[in-house]
Amino acid sequence: MDTSPSSPSLIDARQLQLEQALQLLQQAGALLPEAEPYSPDWLQGLVDALCDLSSKDALTGLVNRRSFEMALGREVDRVARSGEPALLMMLDIDHFKAVNDSHGHIAGDMVIQSVARAIGQTVRPMDTVARVGGEEFAIILPNCPTSFGATVAERLRERVAEQRVEVSPGQQLQVTVSLGGAFAPQWVRSSSLLWIERADRQLYRAKAEGRNRACLEPHTDSLVSAEEKGMLFAVTQQDSE
Ligand code: GH3
Ligand code: MG
Ligand code: MG
Repeated sequence: MDTSPSSPSLIDARQLQLEQALQLLQQAGALLPEAEPYSPDWLQGLVDALCDLSSKDALTGLVNRRSFEMALGREVDRVARSGEPALLMMLDIDHFKAVNDSHGHIAGDMVIQSVARAIGQTVRPMDTVARVGGEEFAIILPNCPTSFGATVAERLRERVAEQRVEVSPGQQLQVTVSLGGAFAPQWVRSSSLLWIERADRQLYRAKAEGRNRACLEPHTDSLVSAEEKGMLFAVTQQDSE
């Protein structure tokens, strides 16, 4: 099928049923494209806004759970091919229910937003930060040296603990977070689900050991010869054909 812009078979965009999409964006409070309605720029803006709506979390603007799972799947494949170390970190706000109970749901939302901002300001642009549950976040750190994992986790913990969240004039809250992390097994095909489970186990450990701390799964670099790497690559390529 010829889909090039100059194709005479391109339909007139005004024939498309876009009312539902526009309504959806309006209800979500998303900005509608400003270009001339039904122009290519306007349609592109509409598609971009719909992509944002389906991949981002409304409260924080971070990647949502579905998008995170897709990004993690891609990272699993990348690690299996390249052998580069990658860290997955799960982060959960400590005693968050008490924030809601004492200060109300809106204050709770403000705390979630400010933790999201703190994480975003602490990691690299190449890292994926997602809100995966009410007060739970996941961070994918590609190409993260194994010796650096504990430093990153500790930096995140500190950054949140230092922060004061002004939930109403003159009222500031402080929260802490617990973190659990696990590195992807290098040169081995694994599943995203297993990786999440391993990081989650470390998060539970951090909670059980008193919260406001980070626990990483002990990691040993796998020693794989150049020949074995070649074989693993061949298998991966065949599988993907
Ligand atoms: P822990 O230290 O063990 O993590 O304790 P916790 O109180 O943080 O954990 P728990 O899972 O018991 O409480 C999470 C609370 O988060 C319960 C729920 O009401 C609240 N919550 C979930 N989503 C949202 C949200 O979007 N906004 C607000 N304000 N609260 C939320
Ligand atoms: Mg919690
Ligand atoms: Mg939780």
